[in-house]
Amino acid sequence: MFLLRKPILALSGSARARSLLTGLPVTRAVVDRFVAGGTVADAVATAGKLRADGLQVTLDHLGENTSDTDHADATVAAYLALIDALANAGLAQGAEMSVKLSAVGQALTSTDGSAYALAGARKIADAAYGAGARLTLDVEDHTTIDSTLGILRTLREDHPDVGVAIQAMLLRTPKDLATLTGPGSRVRLVKGAYDEPGKVAFVEPHQVDRAYVRAMKVLMTGDGYPMVGSHDPRMIAIAEKLATEAGRGPDAYEHQFLYGIRPDEQRRLRAEGKTVRVYVPYGSDWYGYFTRRLAERPANLLFFLRALLSRG
Ligand SMILES: Cc1cc2nc3c(=O)[nH]c(=O)nc-3n(C[C@H](O)[C@H](O)[C@H](O)COP(=O)(O)OP(=O)(O)OC[C@H]3O[C@@H](n4cnc5c(N)ncnc54)[C@H](O)[C@@H]3O)c2cc1C
Repeated sequence: MFLLRKPILALSGSARARSLLTGLPVTRAVVDRFVAGGTVADAVATAGKLRADGLQVTLDHLGENTSDTDHADATVAAYLALIDALANAGLAQGAEMSVKLSAVGQALTSTDGSAYALAGARKIADAAYGAGARLTLDVEDHTTIDSTLGILRTLREDHPDVGVAIQAMLLRTPKDLATLTGPGSRVRLVKGAYDEPGKVAFVEPHQVDRAYVRAMKVLMTGDGYPMVGSHDPRMIAIAEKLATEAGRGPDAYEHQFLYGIRPDEQRRLRAEGKTVRVYVPYGSDWYGYFTRRLAERPANLLFFLRALLSRG
């Protein structure tokens, strides 16, 4: 099934596949497993339920690779509306916004995309920190990393604990991590969800896993705040061991899960007193996010195919 990862990820960039898949009624039912809903109200309601269970949240307004400034501006406005709504519901304190820089202009070619994305991300950061929330930058394919880390550095001049996701699969990651382990530096370590060529990334799952463990060691023994973004039971167990060895209590690192994935494990860790944060995506532009989830795990794909066949 691992062999299907590449072709499924290729679908995420195909306009034809997008129009076919998003048009199927059954797709919606499967998407609902991974996406909290279409509106700000849905996102706030989901955040409220998770918080009632003792889980922290990081919210993602779905969308990526925005190709015009109006769309990028609308994404920034959507985050500002979300932060307002969370504040009104008493849920902003301690919440986190997860932002894909390509959704706020990084991929624009009509203007300086990095500068545009920085301006948008700064507005989101100012609003988030003003409301007692935080910002973490998602990380996208390898061509965007230099720009993303540059924007991170600039944002941290005003808001030092802006976080960033780092992909263990990329060969450059050890070098990047060396600059990201200072006091308070929040880093979400993930395996990496994009289809990367062998010249820049580990492609075999066991190589990615080993790289993930090496990166966890660097983060856990560093001075920053590690955020372990993995559903993998082995990675979670190793994170626990490394945190104990490094003398980190439950407030000095956290586990992160994607919404809808291993909810029992999220609650188990929470019941043990660990800090657990759930990544909550919402909005209508779910196609890219959804295809990455299908590519990640055979069972997700089988679930989708079964639903498709049972509806004829
Ligand atoms: C909070 C969070 C934020 C993320 N942000 C980014 C980002 O900014 N950029 C990026 O490139 N990627 C991001 N990712 C995705 C990440 O890169 C991986 O693609 C994704 O998490 C799958 O890798 P994994 O570590 O969960 O383990 P995998 O290698 O996918 O799975 C390993 C094992 O975990 C268990 N498992 C996995 N999924 C399930 C499931 N649905 N049900 C039961 N068991 C399961 C199974 O035992 C499986 O064998 C993020 C992931 C998380 C959790």
